[in-house]
Amino acid sequence: MKASSSFFQNRACECFPCHEGVPLDEFNCLFCYCPLYALGDSCGGNFSYSASGVKVCTNCTLLHVGDAGAGIVKQRFGELKELGRRRL
Ligand code: SF4
Ligand code: SF4
Repeated sequence: MKASSSFFQNRACECFPCHEGVPLDEFNCLFCYCPLYALGDSCGGNFSYSASGVKVCTNCTLLHVGDAGAGIVKQRFGELKELGRRRL
């Protein structure tokens, strides 16, 4: 895929590809750190929890397949915005 505002790859990253199951040419690095993590168990991804309760994203490719991730994050932006709202 061609690089754009919603798709790019960092093949120089020592972890590339950091998740399995995505064709190499479609692996998107745009959301290297997932902005949906803060949504907890409603993020919509394929997470699990460690024994100590930490959310683990090893098996999730939700935002790494082609250029679909940008649209997914955009759909959830209202919820993320609420998390960042000033608390009075
Ligand atoms: S998403 Fe981040 S960690 Fe994963 S391969 Fe790309 S640059 Fe590396
Ligand atoms: S499971 Fe997927 S969508 Fe959810 S926080 Fe982890 S990487 Fe993001």
